[in-house]
Amino acid sequence: IVQWTPFFQTYKKHRYPWIQLGGHQGNFRAGPTPGTILKKLCPQEEACFRLLMNDVLRPYVPEFKGVLDVREEEGHQNEESDVKSVDDSSCCKSSSIVTSYLQLQDLLGDFEQPCVMDCKVGVRTYLESELAKAKERPKLRKDMYEKMIQVDPSAPSLEEKKMQGVTKPRYMVWRETISSTATLGFRVEGIKLSHGGSTKDFKTTRTREQVTEALKRFVENYPHAVPKYLQRLKAIRATLKTSPFFATHEIVGSSLLFVHDSKNAGVWMIDFAKTLPLPPHVPRIQHDAEWQVGNHEDGYLIGVNNLIDIFEDIKNF
Ligand code: ATP
Ligand code: MG
Ligand code: MG
Repeated sequence: IVQWTPFFQTYKKHRYPWIQLGGHQGNFRAGPTPGTILKKLCPQEEACFRLLMNDVLRPYVPEFKGVLDVREEEGHQNEESDVKSVDDSSCCKSSSIVTSYLQLQDLLGDFEQPCVMDCKVGVRTYLESELAKAKERPKLRKDMYEKMIQVDPSAPSLEEKKMQGVTKPRYMVWRETISSTATLGFRVEGIKLSHGGSTKDFKTTRTREQVTEALKRFVENYPHAVPKYLQRLKAIRATLKTSPFFATHEIVGSSLLFVHDSKNAGVWMIDFAKTLPLPPHVPRIQHDAEWQVGNHEDGYLIGVNNLIDIFEDIKNF
């Protein structure tokens, strides 16, 4: 259990520790205006947010407020200091560097002491291009073999045991099978309960029963949150089916962020750093069809459907 507070936020007269359940700590900082955060810019993600602000999915993603260039002292990238925009006269000081950020709505802003859960959606969390690259010169990797037998001593084949190594593409495909990613189309990345620390110990939470237990604990003592989550997830599913953005993109490594407190509950789509336009030879994907190498199917709807089914189970429990 870790308590991970990269910085404090102030919004609507209260000051709260910001909660970050995934990613690198240095990727985020407080935004220049209340209710916003800054995430290190990645061009693919910026392109997605620009499209999403004009798509039917807009209500289901954090509001994108543009790009902000921040001058930061080297080695002090996440201090609680004022965020200053760059002006040309001073951008060349040798002691500071300029970092570009996406300015996003802080989804925690309207909650009081919220519980937060990040679920990574889709049947794989790497891009087809990453798998292809790993296949280029597949060396035997002892480090990946060691990681594999630590989780499951029976996972390596006889051949792999003999060689004491696995290739990277083999490891990438296997890794999605130790969590619920490959089977349920989503996995729990992290949970932070209202007063507890956060838990990221879900790497091998795999079966539907295990995932249901984790989700049950997340909403324990907040029965009002379950119907709200269901309503919102169903609205997201219906909107995805009409979204031009969704029809034309492969969504990998993206999450649904669940946030509730004693009054409200909401779910948003976040993290589009690995969301790419489909290549020209693949005009459309189903998002609920089986992934085969090269077909670009991401299984996003498989994950949303299973989340809805599991929350229905919890509601009726
Ligand atoms: P990774 O690729 O490892 O998942 P990342 O660096 O791409 O991480 P995100 O997944 O976008 O970062 O965000 C990491 C965490 O930060 C999320 O799990 C969530 O807790 C928090 N977070 C991200 N965006 C927002 C937001 N707009 N409002 C509130 N919290 C957010
Ligand atoms: Mg993420
Ligand atoms: Mg990411």
